[in-house]
Amino acid sequence: MNKKDYYEVLGVDKNASDEEIKRAFRKLAKQYHPDINKEPGAEEKFKEIGEAYAVLSDPQKRSQYDQFGHAAFDGTGSGGFGGFDAGDIDLGEILRAAFGDSFGGFGGFGGFSDFFSGGSSSSSRARKGRDTLLRVDLSFMEAAFGVDKDFELSLNETCDECHGAGGFDEDVCSYCHGSGRVMSEQRSIFGVIQSQSVCPKCGGKGKSYKKTCSKCSGTGQVKRKKTISIHIPEGVDTGYQLRISGKGEAGINGGANGDIYIECVVEQSKFYKRDGEDLYIEVPINFAEAALGCKKEIPTIYGNVIMDIKAGTLTGTKLKLKGKGLKVPNSLRKGDMYAIIKVITPAKLSREQKKLFEQLLKTDLESDSIFKEFNKNLK
Ligand SMILES: [Zn+2]
Ligand SMILES: [Zn+2]
Repeated sequence: MNKKDYYEVLGVDKNASDEEIKRAFRKLAKQYHPDINKEPGAEEKFKEIGEAYAVLSDPQKRSQYDQFGHAAFDGTGSGGFGGFDAGDIDLGEILRAAFGDSFGGFGGFGGFSDFFSGGSSSSSRARKGRDTLLRVDLSFMEAAFGVDKDFELSLNETCDECHGAGGFDEDVCSYCHGSGRVMSEQRSIFGVIQSQSVCPKCGGKGKSYKKTCSKCSGTGQVKRKKTISIHIPEGVDTGYQLRISGKGEAGINGGANGDIYIECVVEQSKFYKRDGEDLYIEVPINFAEAALGCKKEIPTIYGNVIMDIKAGTLTGTKLKLKGKGLKVPNSLRKGDMYAIIKVITPAKLSREQKKLFEQLLKTDLESDSIFKEFNKNLK
């Protein structure tokens, strides 16, 4: 018998603690579980890992192994290990013990117990339907004010002909006699290991039907196109998700329906800059308006408003328009809008304008302290 060293199989030291052995086993078992790892040889590797852990996780067996190696469990080897019965190792039990509560966490992969014996998971267990993720593109204004959108979906729904059963005239499955599982025997170093798998005929339900439902071909579910109308609330931004509970794919074996998630993708406005619920716009004013002050009409998303710009306003001045920002979705709160003043220097002047500026230049335009401060530093 040419077997690999159990410590090597788990990749641990000979002095490894129980916790280290357990951790190594859990990691490897997840990696090589045949439901996850479809590579050739993964199944053999998985069984090897299971055997190694079965021995090393049991203090008595571990000490026997440390002393005698594989011969300790070889029925033909030198005896003297009273009380040890190679046939009593149950790998399914070991897997459950090692994984504890998280054992069922592999639901999506069928669970460990479908591979080794005696599982809590089976295909007759109620399972939640799959969730569906949709993306919706929204214009800036649609996102700002909310919009109703229709979505075309093709979802698995419970067959209304057989109500999800898959057939009519229920009968006990003749293949598994109602247990939903079938046993098979495997020879191994521990003797014969019995393993269970889901009944291939009834898929674990334990029952069969004299007449298969023709509408769903026995699956209990049918694909159905449907349109759902969703109200997108005011103020959403890219990344905002809506969850429509229980409207996704039908559950299996009476499980709850999946959910629909709608993720928003909002187009950027060419005009407004958005920062959460606040909006920013740039407001150009000319020299004269900046110097004399003016009333300026400003476009907000709620319509135009007149804003007072004071005499002597500098470029870059930030003016707040309270409550003219976006709504916070599903709340009464609203953001603000900020007008950023930009004083525009005229690039082209008419002869008359030029004359006026030249006259202006002769007046004292540099009374502001910023000029004095600057001039003081001239050498
Ligand atoms: Zn069956
Ligand atoms: Zn049906």
